[in-house]
Amino acid sequence: MSVTKKDTSVLQNFINGVWVSSNSGQTLNVPNPATNELLTKVPVSTKEDVNDAVVAAKEAFNKWKKVPVPKRARILFKYHSLLSDNHEELARLIVKENGKAFKEAYGEVQRGIECVEFASGAPTLMMGETLSGIAEEIDSEMFRYPLGVVGGITPFNFPMMVPLWMFPLAIACGNTFVLKPSERTPILANRLAELFSEAGAPPGVLNVVHGAHDVVNGLLNHKDIAAISFVGSQPVAKYVYERAAANGKRVQALSGAKNHHIVMPDADLDKAVQHIISSTFGSAGQRCMACSAVVVVGDNEPFVKALSKKADELIIGNGMDDEVLLTPVIRKEHRDKVLGYIEKGISEGADLIRDGRKEISEHSEGNFLGPTIFDHVTPDMTIAKDEIFAPVLSLLRAGDLDEGLEYIRKSRYGNGATIYTNNAKAIRQFREEADAGMLGINVGVPATMAFFPFSGWKDSFYGDLHVNGKDGLNFYTRKKMITSRFEA
Ligand code: NAD
Repeated sequence: MSVTKKDTSVLQNFINGVWVSSNSGQTLNVPNPATNELLTKVPVSTKEDVNDAVVAAKEAFNKWKKVPVPKRARILFKYHSLLSDNHEELARLIVKENGKAFKEAYGEVQRGIECVEFASGAPTLMMGETLSGIAEEIDSEMFRYPLGVVGGITPFNFPMMVPLWMFPLAIACGNTFVLKPSERTPILANRLAELFSEAGAPPGVLNVVHGAHDVVNGLLNHKDIAAISFVGSQPVAKYVYERAAANGKRVQALSGAKNHHIVMPDADLDKAVQHIISSTFGSAGQRCMACSAVVVVGDNEPFVKALSKKADELIIGNGMDDEVLLTPVIRKEHRDKVLGYIEKGISEGADLIRDGRKEISEHSEGNFLGPTIFDHVTPDMTIAKDEIFAPVLSLLRAGDLDEGLEYIRKSRYGNGATIYTNNAKAIRQFREEADAGMLGINVGVPATMAFFPFSGWKDSFYGDLHVNGKDGLNFYTRKKMITSRFEA
């Protein structure tokens, strides 16, 4: 296949194996969040660009679905090795466009590679089921088939891992794919497509269309898109779920979060502080599994003091610097929104025990905000209810575990939750009663690995089948039942 030379001043779309410019003529700037230096521009593609990609993907599907599964898997093996060979370069790209620390970006690349590893098992994963003798001389078999063209819409916070939750497994199952990456972190998606093509993926099997709402709507409304995988904020997830479902598509929409960490009186104080600091402030709090509310059970002042002290010691700066943990938020506009939440917390009566606003002027080159902690937050306050997606933490006080679990139950979100304790009874009660999809026992970021399903409950997820693991397989395949009579 031929790959034409890219124009690097504006990113191009990848359609049918070639780099093409959007026909819109409109672009958005892509700055580095740590410096606000312009990295590139991303096209605001149109419905027509989406249509071109879907037409290419539909055409490619007719051949790709017939490629033997082991042959499809071999392309993924090759992809795995190319991603591994370029591990460091991919991590650097993530730091540049997303702003997170290099160590975290390196970890993200690893999580993405693990998704490719999982998808490479397609020949085993796609096996059906049989039963000999469902009646006299009659047998039944179940085969799995791909759906057709799948659309994937991804957020800014994991520009590598989230697309790799989607397209490797979808494609290994025989589907073809149109990816719409976040317009705020679009660079990595092109590198992922480039390497996939180098691994031997035929033209049209993976397409990338950059842009914003029009591209999303183009996918949601296109009659030839069979399914939509979405990851992003709650209002958009709900909209995508409803629109795609109304148009008859299979849809999984992973949404926002407010993750509570319960600190029991017997918790190992140093370890709890260490895990909470890294969960809350890592990636500047911009993780769907970030801790954003701590429930302090009992009168645990030493814990609160130790937590604020550790927050004070955090090194703030550019993610390329090895020592840095607290990196910038994605855009200045997002920081402005967060500053509004800080004002709201103060006006609603929470105690601001660590004010991260003071670090803004010291780091004016990028979108930085220092670690911010509110104490004595109550569940009805806005900062306790909303996803802020920033280095802002709320401490809620509870008399016992029951009260802590009630706070989790009251939250509209249910992505993750953690408990810090060594008490078996408390662990079991937490496991049984915590109202969230991914739980941690003394674990700060209880994100699951590629072979398990990943997602949450309540308003953190819309749909039936989560991403990854057997849920991912079931999402990207449909089943056919064959009943055969064998008469003499
Ligand atoms: P976002 O909702 O702003 O954007 C996600 C995607 O939707 C992007 O591709 C964007 O272009 C598109 N989009 C945005 N607004 C739209 C609109 N009005 N109409 C149509 N399309 C629209 O999300 P984000 O800020 O990029 O990412 C952060 C959010 O993603 C957080 O809420 C976070 O919790 C969530 N997230 C969830 C998970 C999970 O597993 N549940 C994982 C990662 C991120």
